[in-house]
Amino acid sequence: MTVLNSPIHSPATESLYDTEILIIGSGAGGATTAALLAEAGFDVLVVEEGAWVEQGTVVPFSLDQMNQQYRSAGVTVALGLPSIAYTEGRCAGGGTEVNSGLYRRPPADVLERWRTQYHIRDLDPDEMYAIAHELETALNVTKVPGKVSAPSMALHRGAEALSWENSESPRWMKYPAGGNASSGQRQSMTRTYLPRAHRAGARIITQCRVRKLAIRGTSASEAAVVLANGQPGRIRFRHVFVCGGAIHTPALLQRSGLHEHIGDTLAVHPTVKLAAHFREAINVPDDVPVHQVKEFAPEISFGGSASNPGLVAMALADNWAEFGHAVNDWQRISVYYAAITSQGKGRVKAIPGMRDPLVTYHLTGRDKQLLRSGLSRLTLLMLAAGADEVYPSYRGAPLVRTPGDIANLQHSFATTKATVMTVHLCSTVPIGEHPRCAANSFGQIRGMKNVWVNDASMLPDAPGVNPQGSVQAFAVRNARRFIETNSPRG
Ligand SMILES: Cc1cc2nc3c(=O)[nH]c(=O)nc-3n(C[C@H](O)[C@H](O)[C@H](O)COP(=O)(O)OP(=O)(O)OC[C@H]3O[C@@H](n4cnc5c(N)ncnc54)[C@H](O)[C@@H]3O)c2cc1C
Repeated sequence: MTVLNSPIHSPATESLYDTEILIIGSGAGGATTAALLAEAGFDVLVVEEGAWVEQGTVVPFSLDQMNQQYRSAGVTVALGLPSIAYTEGRCAGGGTEVNSGLYRRPPADVLERWRTQYHIRDLDPDEMYAIAHELETALNVTKVPGKVSAPSMALHRGAEALSWENSESPRWMKYPAGGNASSGQRQSMTRTYLPRAHRAGARIITQCRVRKLAIRGTSASEAAVVLANGQPGRIRFRHVFVCGGAIHTPALLQRSGLHEHIGDTLAVHPTVKLAAHFREAINVPDDVPVHQVKEFAPEISFGGSASNPGLVAMALADNWAEFGHAVNDWQRISVYYAAITSQGKGRVKAIPGMRDPLVTYHLTGRDKQLLRSGLSRLTLLMLAAGADEVYPSYRGAPLVRTPGDIANLQHSFATTKATVMTVHLCSTVPIGEHPRCAANSFGQIRGMKNVWVNDASMLPDAPGVNPQGSVQAFAVRNARRFIETNSPRG
């Protein structure tokens, strides 16, 4: 292993880079792939469009963070009826720097579905859980020491009162000895796999956007990039791993002329939300609850959202005339969501001449029913937790004070009146041997000798749980297969 003294990353300035392995994107998939391949002796270059933002220099879940670490400051949307607002990280470490850090292993029934329906070859649950164990150690996946936060406790209390299944989700966090719920340090990629890749000799360049791959026949040889100073540059490589996330991986492949089954099967976990008011102060502005309620999973899950005053205001905004006054009492309010496993599908389409792709998503009738039922049950959960007023987030929503008011909610709710959102995007370049898969069982794009995907785009469909654990488990599995079947250039 080469130990380097150079800084971990540098902004891209050279007009020409040369590498054996090019990894595009430094998020959950890209960083994990980079560490494994560099440790196996490959010459690795990671390019990241966003900047390296040290943890601690921005407040988690703040507007400042959205400006610095999210794509388009968090304002991105999949068009449809209703449209679905989505957010993605765009910085060194990608989504892992901004996300809630809630860890779930890929569920056994999901792995079995992917093996049988998408024909993923050699998908062995024992191997996947051995990898999950490694990841849990590497990321320090752990529960909160001592008491969970008040908004998390509310979820737990409500679920217990209704006898609904609930549990604390562990997170990738390190807590100091004697620490508490608010003293954890997120074990994102800039803290874990990117330094590990660097220690093994990988170069990491930031503020470098890959526009397109030059492809001739069945091979790609070069990437056209925009450097940190806005000038064009080039990167020559032997193999390329595209890990730009579920929206930008398919868009880049399409811009490079690859289209077969690419971008046609976007899967997301759509959510609707509400703001719950309690008699006592409950708000924690810079963290999210760790409890999740899984009584109706995988169809519907409940959890808590970031709830700083700006986000409380956004939760009230759909019915501002009626609910807006409540923002003055934000210390007694926390925001919660109902997420569903959607049967709908979306598309990502690169548009010539435009920087960002067009994203669309179609919710099915069953999805819309689940969102209605999810919001009603979430409201009941909050009342059972002791909320004295619940403000559902949709235009014309009623104020709910008692379970009897929920019938009114059920009657008046429509997804077209609600702000439907998602932070879980996947499945735009599904892997497997089934003819509808865009890449083979280990992420190699069909018909291409040296183009691979290894990020959330490869998951065949939505896992129904927080996805980062699944993304990283597959990234490790596929990187290991690559190492077994390819040798580093001597
Ligand atoms: C607010 C939020 C909360 C979340 N909470 C959780 C949670 O609690 N638990 C969980 O499991 N998951 C959570 N997720 C989802 C999780 O973060 C993602 O599933 C995961 O990060 C996906 O990994 P990825 O490698 O596919 O993409 P990302 O981590 O998004 O990384 C992709 C990177 O590629 C870069 N890139 C894209 N295109 C290019 C290009 N052309 N050139 C150069 N670089 C490029 C991007 O800038 C980005 O940094 C959350 C996500 C968000 C946004």
